[in-house]
Amino acid sequence: MIFQIDIATLTSVNSVFYSILLGLLFLFWRQNKDVDAILWWCGFPFFRIIYSLISSDSIDYENGLIIYLGNLSVVLSDTMLMVGCLKFTGLELRWKTIYGYLAVFVALCLYQYSTGADLANRTKLVVIFDLIPIIASVYALSHLENKAFAIEKFFTIFWISFQVGIFSFWILINFDFSSPTFGPSIILSLAFAYLSHIFITVGLIILTIAQRRNQLLSESRKHKELERNLERVLEVAQTANEEKNLFLTNMSHELRTPLNAILGFSESLKLKYYGELNEKQYEYVDNIYGGGELLLKLITDLLHLSNIEEGKVDIFLEDVNLNELLTKTLPLLQEIVGKDSDRLKISNQLSEVGKGTSVYIDQIRTKQILINFVSNAIKYSENDKDVLLDLVDHDDDYYRISITDHGIGIKEDQYENIFLPFNRAGIDRASTEGIGVGLSIAKNLIEEMNGRIDFVSRFGQGSTFWIDIPKSKQRQLPIS
Ligand code: ADP
Repeated sequence: MIFQIDIATLTSVNSVFYSILLGLLFLFWRQNKDVDAILWWCGFPFFRIIYSLISSDSIDYENGLIIYLGNLSVVLSDTMLMVGCLKFTGLELRWKTIYGYLAVFVALCLYQYSTGADLANRTKLVVIFDLIPIIASVYALSHLENKAFAIEKFFTIFWISFQVGIFSFWILINFDFSSPTFGPSIILSLAFAYLSHIFITVGLIILTIAQRRNQLLSESRKHKELERNLERVLEVAQTANEEKNLFLTNMSHELRTPLNAILGFSESLKLKYYGELNEKQYEYVDNIYGGGELLLKLITDLLHLSNIEEGKVDIFLEDVNLNELLTKTLPLLQEIVGKDSDRLKISNQLSEVGKGTSVYIDQIRTKQILINFVSNAIKYSENDKDVLLDLVDHDDDYYRISITDHGIGIKEDQYENIFLPFNRAGIDRASTEGIGVGLSIAKNLIEEMNGRIDFVSRFGQGSTFWIDIPKSKQRQLPIS
């Protein structure tokens, strides 16, 4: 008969049909692994497949335990649908309630098994227990509030609800699976069930896509908003920085005039232009002069930093003979070291490496950096410790000038702060003079010269700071 189908055919059709749905959902999950709900939804066709495999024509349809396992699979299938929907909408998942509900179903199945319930009653029990997660799924999805995907939501809810209709119809007509073949009305209602499962699967997929699209849109809107805010903050910060730089420039000019007077007059007194000074007077004048000099250095550093920030520092790059540069710089460095100028040791290979080589740098700025290195090396080590100036031919592009000391060294957790302006890397402000801008200026300058700066240090043992200065470009010219 044309409208009759045997149960073996039905179960194979079932298995193939739900395998396709499972494949679809699984592939979709692979593209959207961060959406947990899809994996739960995979359980929806998966347990239908288990059901189909269990209810092959070989099983005892009268009252075998296996048929109850099949029934449990159907209920589990829709429970998975429900868990997925709850996860998707972010509603609270009460696992205890879900376990309790499944336990009640299993208990009732066992009761039916022991009392030998007929197929019609068994079917009724499954259908009733199946309705609960389906209704809960509809309830969960109806909580999705976003209007942006209202159509997708309505579509999915409609097809899930459609199942409720089909199941209610089965209960109503006292649907009986006991017949080995099925008549037209059952075939039709099964066809509708399939249809609803296809559309439920499609609905879940398009709903997820719609929600993702919506999330992306709102994220990109947020990003734009954030970008706009950042731009505004940047503008404010830039204005504040410009004002700060203007203030620093004005201030340092204002401060320098009286400071130069202090330095000039105290130096004249020190040089005894206006007569002899007693020991105490000399000591105080010397202190005034020393303090003035330090203050001048700090003001100059600050001004320099603000000029660098404003891009106002001119860098004059030229080919410079390395030996000449070092010969000119050495007296300056020795002056920094002061009385014990022999503390500054020069590496034996210095003149050897520097001979006949030229670098492409700004001489004054390079000297400035080396002065900063040496004054730090002296400042941060004890009076009797040597400081070594070294030069190596580092690689094809750079010579490396380094200053090594055996001083206090730098703690590892401070390494990343060393070149930040106004950072003293844990040094107590009162114990050692300085404001923490020398190295940040040095970094800016060397980078302007296309060079590099870095250091190695061991806390308590000393540090080596170096700059890599670019070799002269002439070196690369063809020899004529
Ligand atoms: P300042 O010396 O004025 O603090 P710098 O920018 O020259 O500023 O140095 C930043 C910080 O780096 C210093 O405060 C100090 O903690 C650390 N530092 C620099 N050179 C050395 C060195 N040779 N040995 C140990 N610490 C150093």
